[in-house]
Order: sequence, then C-alpha cells, then structure tokens
Amino acid sequence: MKIICIGRNYSDHIRELSNVKPSNPVVFLKPDSSIIAKNQNFIIPSFSDDIHHEVELIIKINRVGKHIDKAFSNKYFNEIGLGIDFTARDLQNNLKKDGHPWEKSKAFDNSCLVGDFINKDKFQNLSNIEFCMKKNNQIVQSGNSSEMIWNMDELISYVSQYFTLKIGDLIFTGTPAGVSSVKTGDFLEGFINSDQMFSLKVK
Ligand code: ZN
Repeated sequence: MKIICIGRNYSDHIRELSNVKPSNPVVFLKPDSSIIAKNQNFIIPSFSDDIHHEVELIIKINRVGKHIDKAFSNKYFNEIGLGIDFTARDLQNNLKKDGHPWEKSKAFDNSCLVGDFINKDKFQNLSNIEFCMKKNNQIVQSGNSSEMIWNMDELISYVSQYFTLKIGDLIFTGTPAGVSSVKTGDFLEGFINSDQMFSLKVK
C-alpha cells in the first residue's frame, strides 16, 4: 500500500508557513515503513530538532482506480480516519531552500500516525467534518473539511491521474493551522467530532 499526502490544502496553514497558495494540489508520498505500529509511541529522530505535528483527515481507498472522474470519487472510499503527518520542519526547510525533494523530512520511519477510521455513512456531510488535535490536553489544531481548498472528491480525482489507487491506500488530505514542535513527554490526541481517533506519547 502507499500513502499519498496532500500539502497546502488549508489557507490558514499556508499563511502560517508563509507558503504560496498552489494552483494544483501539492502531492508527496510516504512509504509503508513510515507507519507507527499500533499502540507505539512517536520517537523523535536524531536528525531533527524541530519535529512538527500535522493532524489530517485520512481517506482509505477501497477500490482500484485510475483517472477517476470526481463525480465518481465517492465510490472509491468507505472510511475516513485521522492521523498525523510528522514533519522534520528544520530538514524540510533546508531541502526546500536547496530545491530538493522533501522525502527525508516527511517519509522517515515513524513519521506517519494512522488512527482509527469511521464509516463515511456516519457523517451527514463529508464537507463538514470537524476534527482537532490536543497536545497535553490543550487544543493546538482544529479544522473542518469545509475549509479544504480541494475537497476529498477532487483530491481522489487529481491524484488518480498520476497514481493508480489500490485497496488500502491512504490519502492524507492536508493540515489546518496550528502546527508546532513536539518534545519528549508530550501526549497527543486526535478527535473527529468528539470521538477520540488516536492517542500517543512522544519519546
Ligand atoms: Zn501534512
């Protein structure tokens, strides 16, 4: 399986990192080796002094598809989840400056937390899904799928022009504002509405 991540999909987060709003979705991949095993902690890697949390809604693909028309995107997923795209921001800034790919800062071992999933039928409106992340009991990021620049159907259609989507593939849909560094001892929890979707410690 593969993990397809979308960057810069929320205007408030684009502003906080002083990025430019892209004319098309920014896309990058994480390998399956980046996934944090169930009930494991996040361990800060030795190569970074500035690991950021990025909480994101996740789409789980349930059908093989390529060149999917956005009118049919909703047939390619049944479940929505929540996770964290951990990012070595210091390394990413250096790579960006040099015009290099981001992979080392985004796709390293344990950079991908995949929490629980909810059947999409449980939501009245997929364009109005509220989610948030707490760090040490304080809400640090909150967002709503209504704030996405490209909605889920558009993202599935867009990425399937480049990558054949397969059963079990995940699409991380981008992060809202409020990203910040994590440090040893932090306790992170994610919620969709009031349902807890993940919790983990930073070591
Ligand atoms: Zn992200």
